[in-house]
Amino acid sequence: MTTTPLTLRMQASDNVAIVANDGGLAAGTVLADGVVLLDPVPQGHKVALVDIAAGAPVLRYGIPIGHAAQAIAAGRWVHERLLTMPAARALDDLPLATLRAAALPPLQGHTFEGYRNADGSVGTRNILAITQTVPCVAGVTAFAVQRIKAELLPRYPRVDDVVALEHGYGCGVAIDAADAVIPIRTLRHISQNPNFGGEVMVVSLGCEKLQPGRLLPPGSLPIRDGREAQPPALDVICLQDDAHVGFMSMVESIMRQAEAHLQRLHARRRETVPASELVVGVQCGGSDAFSGVTANPAVGFCADLLVRAGASVMFSETTEVRDGIAQLTARAATPEVAQALVREMAWYDAYLQRGGVDRSANTTPGNKAGGLSNIVEKAMGSIVKSGTAPIVDVLAPGEKLRTRGLTYAATPASDFICGTLQLAAGMNLHAFTTGRGTPYGLAAVPVIKVATRSDLARRWHDLMDVNAGRIADGTATIESVGWELFRLMLDVASGRKKTWAEQWKLHNALVLFNPAPVT
Ligand code: CA
Repeated sequence: MTTTPLTLRMQASDNVAIVANDGGLAAGTVLADGVVLLDPVPQGHKVALVDIAAGAPVLRYGIPIGHAAQAIAAGRWVHERLLTMPAARALDDLPLATLRAAALPPLQGHTFEGYRNADGSVGTRNILAITQTVPCVAGVTAFAVQRIKAELLPRYPRVDDVVALEHGYGCGVAIDAADAVIPIRTLRHISQNPNFGGEVMVVSLGCEKLQPGRLLPPGSLPIRDGREAQPPALDVICLQDDAHVGFMSMVESIMRQAEAHLQRLHARRRETVPASELVVGVQCGGSDAFSGVTANPAVGFCADLLVRAGASVMFSETTEVRDGIAQLTARAATPEVAQALVREMAWYDAYLQRGGVDRSANTTPGNKAGGLSNIVEKAMGSIVKSGTAPIVDVLAPGEKLRTRGLTYAATPASDFICGTLQLAAGMNLHAFTTGRGTPYGLAAVPVIKVATRSDLARRWHDLMDVNAGRIADGTATIESVGWELFRLMLDVASGRKKTWAEQWKLHNALVLFNPAPVT
């Protein structure tokens, strides 16, 4: 057991540092620079490095994460009750596309084995997805999927899985409300995710508000192969159809249709494609003070490698980037992209205001126990996941990715809603960092989980795929973990390796973002 006190300071101007030692440090411990701890400080929490006067800024990442609510002596534990949170940055008068970073040098020669689709996208898995227009059909579809897996799937071993896209939308909702466009296009775009190979089948009840033709209007279906002049007709099984007599008739009809899609999916083969075909969504969940020191910077380094290789990277979580908006608008590639960032932040501010809360509603008891005092501190650690590349595009919730490079895909920070919206945008691989620990996973794409602390990686050795805690231990660097993650992504995308969440089949349900009223 090491007794050498380990503390981490992000910038030379910071007046606090993070205690890195497992189990924290006891009062009386002398830090390397001579500061003596006046309080016991838990792991991941902040210690004052100098005397901080009442009202003076508390600096981490070189910026004020709050102001001292009272005088804080050097060596004291700087917990959330000693901090007052700064106001959110106003959305006018922001720097727009002012940062002219040197272009990142291209990274060539990296490939993976993927499934190329007729529309040009590339899948990392070969999955039959069954789209549903309404929750009423979920039980019947789930029953049919069980039988498909037991009776049909063994005959089509090149198909990885069958996934029912269950959700809570489609009826009992104000479907003509302006914001209804968000859940509807989210579902539409998820059914077109590259891992589903252009095979779309729909189970509908019949009387629901979200009719199949409204969910997937003509022209929205992917062309399945290059020889087809027209996309196929929409394949719908309608449970209220007069032809169905009894439950088994519905189940068999779903199975019959599924088999036609399984045959086509089974004919797909992996081929060598450039790393530029990766579409990686990054997010964090169950964050702690190490997220912004170890895992997120390593993911950010990897994001830069991906952008250099010509791939697409999405970062998200609006309430977690709101406090860094000036950094983001400065990093936008053009003033138009910066304006689009402002548009999404303003929309979200208004959305929170309608609910009578603000961005401070984001932080959880676990975040605070892990050392994150407030959303400003959390935001600075969250944004580093995006690396340093210019932001080339902004997606509103549920929109589909339009371009390669680094995109801001606006989503809530909720792990499930963010993952669902990144699936809709077209991600084929997900990188997820966690400090407190979460067994999160998705059925449609592999999720690579990155632990922020070695203690978590040790205890959750069969849930965490990468241990970025070695950066805090001093046994690895941000660069080395970033490269390790990049190589793991190519292996996982190729199907050569499975993530732990895939191994155990840990799948979170889709959760649609529906800001419109329900009825
Ligand atoms: Ca999240």
